Amino acid sequence: MSMHVIIAGGGIVGCMTAMELAGRGCRVTIVERGQIASQMSGESSWAGGGILFPLLPWMYGDAVNRLTISGTKLYPAICERLKQETGIDTELQQCGMLILPPFDREKALAWCRDYDFAAQGASAAAFGVQSPGGDEALWLPGVSQTRPPYVMRALRKWLEQNGVTLLERTELKPLEGAGSLRAWETVSGEKLQADKFVVTSGAWSFDLLKETASKLKIKPMRGQILLYQPRKNLEHMVYREGFYMIPRKDGLLLAGSTLEDVGFDPATTEQARDELSAKAEAVMPTLKGLPIIKHWSGLRPGTPENLPAIAAHPQIENLYLNTGHFRYGLTMAPGSAKIVAALICGEQPFIDPTPFACPV
Ligand SMILES: Cc1cc2nc3c(=O)[nH]c(=O)nc-3n(C[C@H](O)[C@H](O)[C@H](O)COP(=O)(O)OP(=O)(O)OC[C@H]3O[C@@H](n4cnc5c(N)ncnc54)[C@H](O)[C@@H]3O)c2cc1C
Repeated sequence: MSMHVIIAGGGIVGCMTAMELAGRGCRVTIVERGQIASQMSGESSWAGGGILFPLLPWMYGDAVNRLTISGTKLYPAICERLKQETGIDTELQQCGMLILPPFDREKALAWCRDYDFAAQGASAAAFGVQSPGGDEALWLPGVSQTRPPYVMRALRKWLEQNGVTLLERTELKPLEGAGSLRAWETVSGEKLQADKFVVTSGAWSFDLLKETASKLKIKPMRGQILLYQPRKNLEHMVYREGFYMIPRKDGLLLAGSTLEDVGFDPATTEQARDELSAKAEAVMPTLKGLPIIKHWSGLRPGTPENLPAIAAHPQIENLYLNTGHFRYGLTMAPGSAKIVAALICGEQPFIDPTPFACPV
């Protein structure tokens, strides 16, 4: 009999983990409180912008960079496979990103050299955007994006087609105790048995683990995004001082995002709407007066230094963690899923997992 693995949470991290495990011949069940590939109360994956690159990677440590770069490299094959096997186009495109000043040019260029990532000095005006901090921008042609709701929809279909059980509207209770986990109890009292278990519950992971991994630091960090339909869209992503704009293939334009420490509150706010629209209009004055056609939020699984936990649980021998990807879970998910699947199946992970150990 093949190994049965229960995955707790059906966001991008849970779904990609399921894909990896199914590919290794495991029997897989995803247990999801809400509905996979939709957003009910703040789940992060549907809400993300879909930039497959860290915002200013030179601000992060090497472990974060290795994981995000691995994800960036794995996406084209995954998206192609999803398209071939589900018919759903995830809109992966290498449209590049323009970084507007102020930013640390020396650090940026050194990082691009060290990681062999193409970078060119560029004029913001030549890209058709306003740059209140000066015209000398940095053009990163290798940055890609994908469309998270489409990725989630495609993953869901692929998992269904490949025999993964999706147990939705089913909420798991927090874990207690040590040793080995035989069954994980749901809030309605059902006991779900498996050989191994993985926590991929995003911002809610610490709630499930606080009795058994009290040093794990994961907390919700809300992000809000606005959606416009400009008359003439950008052709590239643009970043300025923590704010970014992402043009989609169908002419829509995302403007985001906020970074708010407000607990598990998935509300959207007028204040964020005003702040984000002012930032968007400063870069693209033609947005002034246009309606905001959608405004949403998501709760990121926030962690110190953006370091996820991808590891065996320190006390429960058949429990694993794949959580806390904070601002870059969409980018990191493919590499992270490969690491945790290797740990579960007793293989050597393709990246050294030591930096992602669960704190004890
Ligand atoms: C505004 C915004 C913009 C972003 N932009 C980007 C970007 O451009 N690029 C990038 O790489 N990343 C981006 N991110 C970050 C990215 O979205 C997250 O890091 C990633 O989605 C986390 O995935 P996850 O699967 O861990 O969490 P989630 O998607 O939140 O999934 C966790 C799942 O677990 C379920 N769950 C929780 N508790 C239980 C329970 N007790 N029982 C059963 N199920 C449970 C939840 O319902 C949820 O579906 C952005 C995030 C936000 C909010």
